[in-house]
Amino acid sequence: MNCPFCSHPDTRVTDSRPEVGAIRRRRECLEDSGGCGRRFSTLERVELAGVSLAARGGAWSTISDRSVKANFAPVDGREVLDLVAEMPIASWGYKSQDASIRHIGPTAQDFYDAFAVGEDDKHITTVDADGVALAAIQGLYELVQEQEAQIAALENGAGIDTAASGPSSSGLSVTSALVGGLLALGLALVSGLLLVALRAGRGRGAQA
Ligand SMILES: [Zn+2]
Repeated sequence: MNCPFCSHPDTRVTDSRPEVGAIRRRRECLEDSGGCGRRFSTLERVELAGVSLAARGGAWSTISDRSVKANFAPVDGREVLDLVAEMPIASWGYKSQDASIRHIGPTAQDFYDAFAVGEDDKHITTVDADGVALAAIQGLYELVQEQEAQIAALENGAGIDTAASGPSSSGLSVTSALVGGLLALGLALVSGLLLVALRAGRGRGAQA
């Protein structure tokens, strides 16, 4: 590239440092070939058309190539599912469009409150809306799998798996303790009544 100071076409790269989606270079204008010898930095960015429409295509594509992404972090599908369940979703119309034209979905404010993704709380990017929907489906699938396993365990007559389901198994042990206690109380009452009846019988026998 040309020197920004003297427009000399001959420059030399003295240092290169890669950044996310870009590369930073130190350059030197070459005095040997008639340049000013000054140094400057350049930042070369990957040129991305983030959204594209294929020729004669009927749908927008958003760039989602792994190579243009960084700072990956895991997502908890169950947590996303809970947030989706709590997020207000309504049917509405744009003020700028005819009242007969309806749309459906959350507001950008509620979406941003829940997931804190995207550039601001005024827009929802399609990649984020799609990502949230897919993550919530994974969370829902996990939930269904768990419930299927519980139902299968119950149908097998094996009772609820004590290792797998904490809350329900502790619920069971509380119930059995309660039943045991009631049984013991019932037995004590019955034996007490029997004792009273026996004494009464003896008393009557002695009187006769
Ligand atoms: Zn120069």
